[in-house]
Formats: sequence, C-alpha cells, structure tokens
Amino acid sequence: LETQVLRAQRLESIGTLASGIAHDLNNILTPILTTAQLLQMKMPDADERNQQMLKTIENNSKRGAALVKQVLQFARGIDGQRTVVQMNHLFSEIQQIVQETFPKSIELTEHIQPELWAVIGDATHLHQLLINLVVNARDAMPKGGHIGISAENLLIDEDYARMNLDAHVGPYIAITVADTGMGMRSEIIDRIFEPFFTTKEIGKGTGLGLSTAKGIIQSHGGFVTVTSQVGKGTEFKVYLPAVEVAKTPLVEDLELFKGNGE
Ligand code: ADP
Repeated sequence: LETQVLRAQRLESIGTLASGIAHDLNNILTPILTTAQLLQMKMPDADERNQQMLKTIENNSKRGAALVKQVLQFARGIDGQRTVVQMNHLFSEIQQIVQETFPKSIELTEHIQPELWAVIGDATHLHQLLINLVVNARDAMPKGGHIGISAENLLIDEDYARMNLDAHVGPYIAITVADTGMGMRSEIIDRIFEPFFTTKEIGKGTGLGLSTAKGIIQSHGGFVTVTSQVGKGTEFKVYLPAVEVAKTPLVEDLELFKGNGE
C-alpha cells in the first residue's frame, strides 16, 4: 500500500508539473501561431519557399498546441458531465471513424449486443477511451490486421467480485478491443498505463493515451485488464458499471451519482 501511495503522489506531482509547463507553453505557442498566420496573409505574393517556411511554423505550432491540449486534459483529471450514455450509439460512431480514417489494410469487426445497458457517465470521455484503444490497435499493426470490438451486458456476481478487488456485484458492460498486432512483452505491459510512457517514435506517441483511458475508466467506477502475446496481438477488456436500461434513472436521481467513483 505504501508504494501505491508514493506512486499516487508521484503521479500527482507529475500532473501538476505537466499542467504548469503546458500552460506556459500555450502562452508561448499562441503568438507564434498567429504571427505565422498573419505573415502568410500579409504576404500573399511571397515566393513559394518563404510561404512554405511560414506554413512549417504554423503546422508545428499547431502540433505543439494539440499536444499541450492533451497534456492539460490529462492533468486536469476527469470530472466530466454525467448523463445516461447509450453505448450502442457510441460503438456505431467508433465504427464509422475507423472505417473512414484507418488504412484499408485494417479490418474491423464489431460484435455489439443489440440492447446494451446504459452507462452513467461522460459520453465524450467514453468516446475518447474507445478511440485511444483503437488507435493503439491500429499503431500496433503497421502492415495491417484485424481489430475486433465486442461489448456485452455482464452481471458480476459475488464469486467474481471476491476474486477481483476492483469489481462489485451488479450490472456491467464488458468491452473488448482486440488486435492482431505486434503485442507486448510483460515489462512493457507493466508500464503502459504510466503517463508519458511510450515506445513510439518522437512525434508519434505522447504516452498519454492509456493513462487517460485508465483515468476515464476509473472515474466511471470501472476497471481494465490486458492480455498480450508478442507477435500475436493484444486484448484490452474494459468493464464499466452499467444500469439496466429499464431502470434508467431520472435526472434527479443522477445527482446521486455525482462525485461517485473517485
Ligand atoms: P502512445 O500511444 O502515445 O504511445 P499510450 O499510453 O496509448 O501512448 O500507449 C503506451 C504504450 O503502450 C505504447 O507506446 C505501446 O508501446 C503500448 N501499447 C498500447 N496499446 C498497444 C497495443 N494494442 N499493442 C501493442 N502495444 C500497445
């Protein structure tokens, strides 16, 4: 337990430090970006090379700003809106994004139970959580492969809850995101949820995807498991507490859920 407390404190100070730097960096990046954009507008006749150089400044400050946004989002912690999220809808959105933006060499199959229970939570964050998982699956398969997403209602019983300290008796949605990618060695698996841990090359990975994902899962009172085999693939299983749709709470009842799951 002591190491856990130390670890939590260390992560908290990383968060504070990171958000401080991110704020300052934002103040530095904004004038760089706007100046580059202004110059491009002021000199429409500048030769192509000069225009190109301004475009490079603009594009890179935009990349910096996007990274800063991600860091701030992470460090701010997750305290989103709470509404009744219909998960089936969320999975259709993910399917659409994967089909429209992932390379054609990546095949997706979804097995989503037609009447999934609802999750009380933040739809934007849950969306982000799934995106982070499928983007990692994509990145693990540079030569293409298969992503399988499945989701089903699951009633966790006492036996299960006794074996898994993170689980409670009650309705959950169990989500699986599996890929046929490069997989991970166990030393890597041990570290994947740490903020800023990445094995991707500079500019490709921030190391915030899975720590953000875990934060989102925890703030919804859920838990996550990973299994992976080098050269074979990886499977993430996310368990989110759910409400059986018939019992969808009224808005007043939602107040009860506020501040839950810290
Ligand atoms: P990033 O994607 O920016 O590196 P993440 O926190 O999302 O940050 O992931 C951390 C690391 O976990 C990745 O760099 C990669 O090494 C490993 N990882 C995550 N998902 C997978 C996966 N599906 N297959 C193989 N490795 C993965």
